[in-house]
Amino acid sequence: MDSKSLPKIELHLHLDCSVSYRVASLFEPGLPMADFEAHYVAPAKCLNLPDFLSRAAQGIRMTQTAAQLRAVTLDLFAQLQQENVRYFEVRFAPLEHLQQGLRPEEVVETVLASLEEGSKATGIRAGLIVCTLREYPAIQSLASAQLAVRYHGQGVVGFDMAGNEADYPIDAHVASFRLVCDQGLPCTAHAGEARGPESVWDSLRHFGISRIGHGVRSVEDLELVQYLVENNIHLEVCPTSNVQTNVYSTIEQHPVDQLYRAGVSIGINSDSRTLTNTTLEQEYNLLRAQFGWGLEELLQCNLNALEHAFLPAAEKAAIRDQLLLGYNKT
Ligand SMILES: [Zn+2]
Repeated sequence: MDSKSLPKIELHLHLDCSVSYRVASLFEPGLPMADFEAHYVAPAKCLNLPDFLSRAAQGIRMTQTAAQLRAVTLDLFAQLQQENVRYFEVRFAPLEHLQQGLRPEEVVETVLASLEEGSKATGIRAGLIVCTLREYPAIQSLASAQLAVRYHGQGVVGFDMAGNEADYPIDAHVASFRLVCDQGLPCTAHAGEARGPESVWDSLRHFGISRIGHGVRSVEDLELVQYLVENNIHLEVCPTSNVQTNVYSTIEQHPVDQLYRAGVSIGINSDSRTLTNTTLEQEYNLLRAQFGWGLEELLQCNLNALEHAFLPAAEKAAIRDQLLLGYNKT
């Protein structure tokens, strides 16, 4: 069965790093493909995470107006529909989108309205995760958390901390996560990507999270792996992205299969469509070719992701049926 047509869940996907050439050309007519590739797509091998993140600037510059945010969000549905994604959670940091005068509330409301529009048009269910960034001071982090809480139940399904893990600890964000958790909003956080297990432990101890963005370097600490299994913490794994940010030199060295075999709940994600220059189809094919994965592993990863999706249990049942049907396990 080809990877493209398999039904899929995607939980780790950055909106402003997924601007397609089609959308970029809408707002910059005549944009040469070579310029698009030079400015929107990161090289297959970056120096490290900060180098990779510096390449996100053009996508952020291109998502500053309501029309741009709407176009990028709707286009994402078109991209995901092509590979049979049934449910996705998309994330971004609203405070990065105020450069042309939008208020933070307008940024969030525009994306939420576009997600609703896209869902109606395609039948793909979607939720929004609001991000704070590690490099934000506490006041900006708290403003991001308050935005997430304000729109919880109106399309915002979770809260995340993204950004530069290599150079910024979690201190400025502890109060934000406490606020969000107290309000009953589920949380995830990027950790264990540019730094090792201690970074994952930090997030687990202080944030009240049920999922980790990446978290792959947990594999370096057996006690941590055991903790993830026993506490059913889900890792949002993005294989190509980890090679691109040079966490691993090559895909052979990636611990995705090792984590799966250890019984950790993992799911497979693209991280983004444009900056990482990949799709879920490509990620699935990579795992099939490199680690001999088949339908069993791919289905299990999707069931894991669905179980940990920030979606009411009642809504998960129908998607679970679609997954089982798609992998012929009914
Ligand atoms: Zn990410």
